[in-house]
Amino acid sequence: MPADSNAEQDSMILDAVDKFLEREVRPHVKRLDHADEYPKAIADRMAEMGLMGATIAPEYGGLGLSAPVYAKVVEKVAAVWMSLTGIFNSHLIMATAVERSGTPEQKAKWLPRFASGEIRGGIGLTEPDAGTDLQGIRTVARREGEHYIVNGTKTWITNGVVGTCFGVLVKTDPAAQPKHKGMSLLLIEKGPGFTHSKKLKKLGYKGVDSAELVFDNCRVPAENLIGGVEGKGLQMVLQGLELGRINVAARGVGVARAALHDALRYAQQRQTFGKPIIEHQAVALKLADMATRVEAARLLVEQASLAYEKGERCDMEAGMAKLYATEAALSNSIDAMRIHGGYSYSVEFDVERYYRDSPLLCIGEGTNELQRLIITRQLQKRFAI
Ligand SMILES: Cc1cc2nc3c(=O)[nH]c(=O)nc-3n(C[C@H](O)[C@H](O)[C@H](O)COP(=O)(O)OP(=O)(O)OC[C@H]3O[C@@H](n4cnc5c(N)ncnc54)[C@H](O)[C@@H]3O)c2cc1C
Repeated sequence: MPADSNAEQDSMILDAVDKFLEREVRPHVKRLDHADEYPKAIADRMAEMGLMGATIAPEYGGLGLSAPVYAKVVEKVAAVWMSLTGIFNSHLIMATAVERSGTPEQKAKWLPRFASGEIRGGIGLTEPDAGTDLQGIRTVARREGEHYIVNGTKTWITNGVVGTCFGVLVKTDPAAQPKHKGMSLLLIEKGPGFTHSKKLKKLGYKGVDSAELVFDNCRVPAENLIGGVEGKGLQMVLQGLELGRINVAARGVGVARAALHDALRYAQQRQTFGKPIIEHQAVALKLADMATRVEAARLLVEQASLAYEKGERCDMEAGMAKLYATEAALSNSIDAMRIHGGYSYSVEFDVERYYRDSPLLCIGEGTNELQRLIITRQLQKRFAI
């Protein structure tokens, strides 16, 4: 397809997302978020619009969006309701692992069903005793003929209740040294031996379900081993997380922008001492910092997504974008609360939601402490003396 027709298609998709968010999402966010209700109708509409296959190649039925355009979609969605981004992004991390590392048979079998949203799911890495230190996971997959027998527990898994298929990080050789050589990624569909907890109760990121997944002698066909080779799971996950981190960074830009937007409006409406509070220097300085954070965060996301698109190693760029944009979301949410004064504490204003949602961004897809370590490791490599 010529480049300009891609640009035209991208802009049509971005326009369609804007219209969908204003007409079909924004009017329902407050109710769904406060009731912590799964937004089924919205999720189904997102699947109809192709978002469950946003980054999957058109040959498999996806929209084939480039990373920079996908990041723009995520920013738009997050600015209206951050929770929705988890519904398609966790699913796409699983799909990306299959698309980048799966065998031709696996791609042909799974990707069209992931792209249409017929099968929806997510990625299961974290366990009760291991999150940042993924090599410490205990879920084991033991080969028995043409199956793996999986035992273990994953926790905090996004889409864990409504999803039916997950990319699950397991140990196929628990004794391997180094440990990552014994780690593999399996696609596991719900069925006998695979149960999930109720939706976990959370501070924010409401609506979307997070759950514990329990595998008790769960029999998984050996053909579900992504890539068909054991010992490559951690590598696949880390590659998938580059896109995941760009996505979380884009969510950060969306939340930071929404907080700025609400604060700017309020600061021009609210009057104290005879003038709008935007004219008090203490408020004006906050707004300037908030706006600068949004622009800087967006540029970092663009830089990381362009590097990802070119197929370059971009863990440092994705790490910087994730770190900065998510801290920007947190800072802007708090500044927006200060600017809203007492009203910020009311559930009538969206700033209370930004304040509950933004800390998650600093934790998920690798904590911001971990991002700093990744950035410095890369600096050491790239600028070794
Ligand atoms: C709402 C929600 C949704 C989630 N969705 C998913 C999902 O879909 N799939 C999934 O697999 N996981 C998911 N997670 C889990 C998330 O990815 C982990 O919580 C995160 O990776 C951190 O792991 P942990 O909670 O075990 O913290 P820990 O690893 O125990 O870390 C605790 C603290 O120690 C710090 N720390 C740890 N190691 C180091 C180090 N080497 N140097 C410096 N500091 C360090 C951390 O930065 C953190 O501050 C989700 C979590 C939440 C809250």
